[in-house]
Amino acid sequence: MSSFDYGSRLERARRLMTERDIDVLLLSVGADLPYFTGYQATPLERLTMLVLAREGDATLVVPRLEAPRVAPQPEIFELRAWEETEDPVALVAKLAEGARRAAVGNQLWAVFLLELQRLMPSTRFQPAASLTSRLRMRKEPAELDCLRRAAGAADRVVERLARHRFGGKSEQRVAREIGEMVVEEGHESAGLAIVAAGPNGASPHHEPGERHIEAGDAVVVDFGGTVHGYFSDTTRNFVLREAGPNYRAAFEALEAAQEAAVQAVRPGVTAASVDRAARAVIEDAGYGEHFVHRTGHGIGLEVHEHPYIVEGNDLVLQPDMTFSVEPGIYLPGRFGMRIEDIVAVTEQGVERLNDSPRSPFVVS
Ligand code: ZN
Ligand code: ZN
Repeated sequence: MSSFDYGSRLERARRLMTERDIDVLLLSVGADLPYFTGYQATPLERLTMLVLAREGDATLVVPRLEAPRVAPQPEIFELRAWEETEDPVALVAKLAEGARRAAVGNQLWAVFLLELQRLMPSTRFQPAASLTSRLRMRKEPAELDCLRRAAGAADRVVERLARHRFGGKSEQRVAREIGEMVVEEGHESAGLAIVAAGPNGASPHHEPGERHIEAGDAVVVDFGGTVHGYFSDTTRNFVLREAGPNYRAAFEALEAAQEAAVQAVRPGVTAASVDRAARAVIEDAGYGEHFVHRTGHGIGLEVHEHPYIVEGNDLVLQPDMTFSVEPGIYLPGRFGMRIEDIVAVTEQGVERLNDSPRSPFVVS
């Protein structure tokens, strides 16, 4: 990840801290730390934390045994390795001494935050995401490249799945096979795959299980992985020979809804308006109550991040924001369907990062 300019990211963070009167930013596990340093904290009981003062230096506090994993970047941060007998939270409190307002990463473990609050009784703590998401939402060209490569790799997996044998296999087995293809097609690692067959498809986040896939099943397949830490996330639908009655009609509505939402994406419109564009088509077709989730989520170093494409989010879309457009229709006891592509907002409109065929694939 060395092609990213961490120095300028930290500089922009400091400008926002000044604007918002935040004295110190404290980042631990989660994606903010790698965004600013290229280093990902191991989620362990041993604390790793970047202490970024508005004025002055940044210090990365890491357990001694993890220090060899950190690539030194003296121009970005000073490395402070702590010994097994030291108290890392006291160390952080010392470095942040005098801060009136501190912003902490959203995934910071509660046990560390509670101890920090005890050691820094006159400091007010707030979540860092409102600040860090402002920066992370708009992708730099190198980040867009990673997201395009990840999406391209995911599209190649879809092409293979179109010729794949599903019949007679368990959902779990197909999920494992997808995990292998995700890596073979160019991701460095595979995320969890959803393979939901028949009535299981009506549960949007179904965990693949022992159910065997049979003729007549519609199968929802949702998967992704990472390229240089940036995620892909796509959903396609497969039917074994022939899906049940009304599947085609519902699918037509879904495809039209997804297209309408993608076409609604451009700079200057709100995130909520994209959600409404998808929802209106599905409601008109009579499936409104069966579209039970938001239309999309931002994507980058996290598979779900800002901006969220949901009613009530008045955030105005800007060029280089990236998110999923993934309406779904879920008929309990029968079947489910979802179409998911990642898109990027451009100066004029929208770029689809996923471009594999969206119609259901008939497989054996
Ligand atoms: Zn998604
Ligand atoms: Zn997905």
